Amino acid sequence: MRSMPAVLVVEDEPAIAELIAVNLRHNGFRPTWAMDSASAQREIDAAVPDLILLDWMLPGESGLSLAKRWRAEPRTKEVPVIMLTARGDEMDRVAGLDAGADDYMAKPFSTKELLARVRAVLRRRGPDLSKERFTVAGLTLDADTHRVSYLGEPLKLGPTEFKLLQYFLGHAERVHSRGQLLDKVWGDHVYIEERTVDVHVKRLREALGAAGAMVETVRGAGYRLTAKPAAVETSMAAKAGA
Ligand code: CA
Repeated sequence: MRSMPAVLVVEDEPAIAELIAVNLRHNGFRPTWAMDSASAQREIDAAVPDLILLDWMLPGESGLSLAKRWRAEPRTKEVPVIMLTARGDEMDRVAGLDAGADDYMAKPFSTKELLARVRAVLRRRGPDLSKERFTVAGLTLDADTHRVSYLGEPLKLGPTEFKLLQYFLGHAERVHSRGQLLDKVWGDHVYIEERTVDVHVKRLREALGAAGAMVETVRGAGYRLTAKPAAVETSMAAKAGA
């Protein structure tokens, strides 16, 4: 995770949005503000944030509906969402969590509590990337010592390939689009071409040698790190024959 987490604040009341943004900024976060669902979507299209604070009652599409939509989209489904609302009863709380929100805060709330919840949600969601050691099917990456090995044999990786592999190992068996990888590995560099991802995936496969086949191309979708090399061999054979 980047050192200053980006937080998208979706809130139509400027005074509340300002209060939240100021507190986030003073506590090491990078807040951006969207005052309705359309501008929130534009912000997300430009860069996927590390966390979203989402007001329930918005003009136009509701926060609840936005949360559901973002949960359903591959690009945003892993972004933690904390719902903010004036509604405090249990039914609403359940509806918010059912929609995929990670946490829920009833207004008025203290900014101290909000910050505590933001940190807690990021910690809960973050272990995949902050974890120091990953192993999938004999392929091991140690973030602490910056070492990669396959079946005990050390491998040499460039810095981008290392980060890419770390992300893949932390999210094994899941398909990642090129856009998602750009967001998560390169960090919101929307001006980098998606083809860059292909170049680094190719280098990663080469660097991994025999384990390179674990990085699978998923046609029309992106890439996946898989522990099932048989499926990979099939897709690579199909590619070679094409
Ligand atoms: Ca509102």
